[in-house]
Amino acid sequence: MSEPLEQRRILATAIPGPRSQELAARKTAAVSAGVGTGLPVYVERARDGILRDVDGNQLIDFGAGIAVTTVGNGNQRIIDAVTRQIQDFTHTCFMVTPYEEYVAVAEKLNELTPGDHEKRSALFNSGAEAVENAVKIARHVTGREAIVAFEHGYHGRTNLTMAMTAKSMPYKHRFGPFAGEVYRAPMAYPYRWATGAEHCLEEAFEALTTMVHTQVGEENTAAVVIEPIQGEGGFVTPPDGYLARVADWCREHGILFIADEVQTGFARTGDWFACDHDGVVPDLITTAKGIAGGMPLAGVTGRADLMDAVHSGGLGGTYGGNPVACAAALASIETMERDDLRTRAKAIEGVVVPRLQALADRHGVIGDIRGRGAMLAIELVSDLKHKTPNPALTAAVNNACHAEGLVTLTCGTFGNVFRFLPPLTIGDALLTEGLDILDGAFATALA
Ligand SMILES: *Cc1c(COP(=O)(O)O)cnc(C)c1O
Repeated sequence: MSEPLEQRRILATAIPGPRSQELAARKTAAVSAGVGTGLPVYVERARDGILRDVDGNQLIDFGAGIAVTTVGNGNQRIIDAVTRQIQDFTHTCFMVTPYEEYVAVAEKLNELTPGDHEKRSALFNSGAEAVENAVKIARHVTGREAIVAFEHGYHGRTNLTMAMTAKSMPYKHRFGPFAGEVYRAPMAYPYRWATGAEHCLEEAFEALTTMVHTQVGEENTAAVVIEPIQGEGGFVTPPDGYLARVADWCREHGILFIADEVQTGFARTGDWFACDHDGVVPDLITTAKGIAGGMPLAGVTGRADLMDAVHSGGLGGTYGGNPVACAAALASIETMERDDLRTRAKAIEGVVVPRLQALADRHGVIGDIRGRGAMLAIELVSDLKHKTPNPALTAAVNNACHAEGLVTLTCGTFGNVFRFLPPLTIGDALLTEGLDILDGAFATALA
């Protein structure tokens, strides 16, 4: 057993403390300025819902390293599995001499992803790499080139995934030219739908299909790639039924429906995958973040006929499906199953949403509360009627949370969304304490 870490917030110094500030100075001298840090406390140890920094501060974790440490920071099953695997071997390259762990992860992905049809999987290192490979497969099997992505979408930072990502600053600014044959449709964004949320499903669907019909051509379209709940774009949650509608339309036209579940996957939203909520079965699904408790791993899972259509050697990579990462994934999935973390995600929603509702009632600056399970967000506006985004208040609340030892994240195209992604093993006491800090942060920022 590794040394436990008391699940208690401790503020030993100002945030960031002196040792973190020393490290931040070294960071500035050694690390590219292009790699930013949201909350520059340097972490020394982490367990469940607590991060301890080099100054002895213990912070409450509402970010889980961007939805990665879903099974809790420092999960014991993962520590054991990784330790065992490292002692056996760390790498052979699956394409050279394979090993069982990779196959076992693929079997689990095939079993847990939506649909009970025959499936295959391939493993990679990052979410962006998984999205790139899903697009490669879609183009290869359809013989078509066009890819449709959405406003507010985020798919990664490689050249192709930058093209698919909507937001310019910071992801794309002066990094072009971008990969071609990527087209963008409006996202079904109920809160900001011009004619009102009640028209969002119909009109967003209409806008998508008209765009494809007039600007691309259905017969030229390989795939529609969508996050079932958008991540970096602001936890935009389409109306129930929208995804199913799009998936049906794709099927009619021989277009593949690709769900990018890199952020929503693996128990985060209270289901194994966010598509489960809508009963949608994607042709291909990309996974990463929460899959392996912090070890770098990603997957593409899909219909066997599609995944097997690619020639041998067409997919892969030196490190893809690394055995240590696979061991972590198996331990992580086992934890989600045994500890019923999907139910826990729903319970977290039950604790957090009423508190966010109370916050919205108290201050007239929260225009929308959205998301599902332990993937929740509030959208901050300067007035409820005009819905003017309020990134300044969002930053002020975020800073006030950080100063009190609560690790929070913002997101959204307009920088005005506050998101909650706690590890699912966080206790109710820490969860409630974090929400109390959030209350105080709003009071401070609005004073
Ligand atoms: C984070 C993210 C990616 C990119 O994953 P990386 O591992 O950072 O490459 C892709 N899609 C979605 C939906 C994401 O949230």
